[in-house]
Amino acid sequence: MTATRVLVLNSGSSSVKYQLLDMRDSARLAVGLVERIGEETSRLKHTPLTGGGAESREREEPIADHEAALKAVAEELAADGLGLDSPELAAIGHRVVHGGLRFSAPTVVTDEVLAEIERLVPVAPLHNPANITGIRTAQALRPDLPQVAVFDTAFHTTMPESAARYAIDVKTADEHRVRRYGFHGTSHAYVSRETAKLLGKAPEDVNVIVLHLGNGASASAVRGGRCVDTSMGLTPLEGLVMGTRSGDLDPAVIFHLARVGGMSVDEIDVLLNKKSGLIGLCGDNDMREIRRRVDEGDQEAALAFEIYIHRLKKYIGAYYAVLGRVDAVVFTAGVGENAAPVREAAVAGLEELGLAVDGALNSVRSDEARLISPEYARVAVAVVPTDEELEIANQTYALVGNPSAP
Ligand code: AMP
Repeated sequence: MTATRVLVLNSGSSSVKYQLLDMRDSARLAVGLVERIGEETSRLKHTPLTGGGAESREREEPIADHEAALKAVAEELAADGLGLDSPELAAIGHRVVHGGLRFSAPTVVTDEVLAEIERLVPVAPLHNPANITGIRTAQALRPDLPQVAVFDTAFHTTMPESAARYAIDVKTADEHRVRRYGFHGTSHAYVSRETAKLLGKAPEDVNVIVLHLGNGASASAVRGGRCVDTSMGLTPLEGLVMGTRSGDLDPAVIFHLARVGGMSVDEIDVLLNKKSGLIGLCGDNDMREIRRRVDEGDQEAALAFEIYIHRLKKYIGAYYAVLGRVDAVVFTAGVGENAAPVREAAVAGLEELGLAVDGALNSVRSDEARLISPEYARVAVAVVPTDEELEIANQTYALVGNPSAP
């Protein structure tokens, strides 16, 4: 029996997203999501994709912890003949948010690797603990199977020190591992490679600015397939205006809010991560709703949109300067793939940089990677749907190959 399947697990603090793929043709066999783990109202939504239809099944019952969640997922998969005990399963690929400086590539999890991911908890307190729990739970279910960690930070480890270091005291920075790590790396890697494909070139031959605009948002400058700068930093708070995160601000805002505003560090943390960005500016973090309000003449939503675009433009300009020559600017993730007005506004007025969007091409709705710039434009503008799960599965499978092959 050849092992050609990979289970991809993305474990959050109270959720687990999963996909089972067959790597012979990258087909998805099942996808699903467990939400509100640890609450009374937990929910599992499972969608088998074999055999034509895509009928989802839902369970609404208390799921106490990640172990119970993964057991429930295993039961659902088994009900479709896709059980985790199958010899066809080659590996489990885990999204791990923070790999620090050590992990620049996907890594088979050993006790030592797990210990290092644990050592990084102080710089990723919201994410790494859940990722570790996911790995441990999967190990307990299939101790014989390779578990592979695919790090959100890995793609950015090629950043030069000039981009990765903050201009603060070196000793203090090093002691506390304070530097810019960047996130969404799996998406930036996948999308920059797919963009090269779209242009009919090798990744080594193209310079790309990737704009990953989802609820979290980040930009990266990719030269010849290697990341040379990215907008997120020590944590995913830095950079662009996001759904609920502020992105860049003067660090003294924090001292001011503490000293003059009387807020605690934890309160400021929540303010900047959960109550800022688009939701802080206008009360909505969904770009569809914001655009609807803008079209109705809502001033608050219009200003939020302008601030969002202004920041985006600044990063396009900055990364243009970092790269020197740009072959493509590419939009991806929920907002980037779907919000034509964001793409149009971000590029508007940048004709001198060789950037333009064709109105008709931009308004086409499609799941395909596509160019939206007019033929005359010097720099391609593209929409490339991201697929982090496929990238995790590909990287996992490339690492473990097919262990049971003759
Ligand atoms: P992601 O984090 O990549 O899943 O992106 C989620 C975000 O994408 C949502 O919060 C929306 O703001 C945005 N989004 C999704 N669909 C659309 C759409 N059709 N038009 C505009 N924005 C969208």
